[in-house]
Amino acid sequence: MTQHKDLLIIGAGILGLSHAYAAARRGLKVSVFERTATPLGASVRNFGQALVTGQPPGPMLELAKASREIWGRWAQLAGLQLKRNGSYLFARTEAEEQLLEAFCAGRAVEHGYRVELLRGAALHDLYGGRFSHHRAALHGLDDQQLYSREAIPALIDWLRRELGVEFHFSTLVRDVEPGRLHSTAGTFTAGQIIVCSGHDYQTLLAEPIAALDPQVCRLQMLRARPQASLDLQHALLTGLSCVHYGAFADLPEAAAVQAQILRETPHLHDNGIHLLISPTPQGELIIGDSHHYGRDPSPFNAEQVDDWMIGLAEHTLGCKVQVVERWQGVYGARGPGPFSFLRPAPGLGVALMHTGVGMSVGPAMAERNVAQLLEEV
Ligand SMILES: Cc1cc2nc3c(=O)[nH]c(=O)nc-3n(C[C@H](O)[C@H](O)[C@H](O)COP(=O)(O)OP(=O)(O)OC[C@H]3O[C@@H](n4cnc5c(N)ncnc54)[C@H](O)[C@@H]3O)c2cc1C
Repeated sequence: MTQHKDLLIIGAGILGLSHAYAAARRGLKVSVFERTATPLGASVRNFGQALVTGQPPGPMLELAKASREIWGRWAQLAGLQLKRNGSYLFARTEAEEQLLEAFCAGRAVEHGYRVELLRGAALHDLYGGRFSHHRAALHGLDDQQLYSREAIPALIDWLRRELGVEFHFSTLVRDVEPGRLHSTAGTFTAGQIIVCSGHDYQTLLAEPIAALDPQVCRLQMLRARPQASLDLQHALLTGLSCVHYGAFADLPEAAAVQAQILRETPHLHDNGIHLLISPTPQGELIIGDSHHYGRDPSPFNAEQVDDWMIGLAEHTLGCKVQVVERWQGVYGARGPGPFSFLRPAPGLGVALMHTGVGMSVGPAMAERNVAQLLEEV
C-alpha cells in the first residue's frame, strides 16, 4: 500500500492526461498508471490535428472549441509546440467546392465556425502558388497542429513537475474496484478511479465496456519528406474528409461528393481512405489515413493502401514525397455515441472515445467528467 490519493487514473494517453490535469488543477492529489514505459497508444500515433472545423454542430463543436483553449494554455505553460495557423481543406472537384460553399454560407455562419473560403488570387497566394491546381481552399482558422510524439511526453513532464501528478510507468493495472486498484506495482487506494484505457476493452471492467458494443478502427500511417521546398505550417485535408467529418457529412451537397467517390474511386471508400497531412517540427509530413473497423485490429498492412495515400498526398502537395516511416494506429470506434463516461460503481469511472477525435475534444471532455465526478455540475 502506498500513500492514499484523491484520484487514480489508468492510461497516460490524451484522455488520462486530460483527466489528470482537470483534477490536479482543482487541487486533487492524482496518480496515473501506464503499462508501457512511455505512452505508445493512439495518442502518440495520430496526426496531432486538434480540429474545430470538422466537428458536427452541438456538443462536439463546443468541446472542440473549449479544448482549443486548453491546448493553448498547455502550449504556453508546458512549452508544447503548437501551430495555430489553422488548416486548409482543398476542394479538388466541383462537387467538393459546392459543398464547401454551402457550408460557409449556411452552417458556418449559423454555428460560429471561423472559416474563410479561398479562391482565385487568394488561393494562388498560398505557399507561392503550390496549391493553385485545387479549385478552392477552406481555411479553418481555429484548427491547431501538434506533434503528438513530443507533445504527450512534454505534457507528462509538466504535469509531474508543476502540478505534482505522480506517474507509474511500466505498470499494468490488473483490476479495479471502488476505492482500490491492483497493479504490477502493488495496490493503491483513492476516493475516485477513472479508467482511460483507450481501445483495450478486455483488461479492466470488461463487462460494462462490452455493453457499449464498441469496435476498433485501424489506420495505416506514414511519415515522409517532401521532395520540394515546402515549409508547411498548416494541417491539410481534402474534400474526401467531408464525407467523414460531421461538420459536412450530413449537408445535402455531401451526397454528390460521396457519389463521385463511389463512382470514380471506390477503393478509397472501401478502405476508408481520406487524406490528411500534418507538418512535423522537423519539416517532414505525417500522411494518412485508412479506416478499417472491427472487433480486433488486423496486423497486416496493405502496401496498396499506402500507395493510394501517397498518390493522393503527391497530388495534393504537387510534389513527390519520400516515405521514411510507416506504422499502424488503432483507436476506439463505433460505440453508442462519440464518447462515453460510464460510472459502473460509486467512485469508479470509465472515459472512452468512440470516434477518432480524442486530441480535438479530449481536454474539455475531461474537464466535464471531472466536474461531474466532483459534483460541480
Ligand atoms: C492513426 C491515428 C490518427 C489519429 N488522428 C487524430 C487527429 O489528428 N486528431 C484527433 O483529434 N484525434 C486523432 N486520432 C484519435 C485520437 O488519437 C484518439 O481518440 C485518442 O488518442 C484516444 O486517447 P486515449 O487516451 O483514450 O487512448 P490511448 O492514447 O490509446 O491511451 C490509452 C492508454 O492506456 C494504457 N492502458 C490500457 N490499459 C491499461 C492497463 N490495464 N494498465 C495500464 N495502462 C493501460 C495504454 O497503454 C495506453 O497508453 C487518431 C488516432 C489514430 C490511431
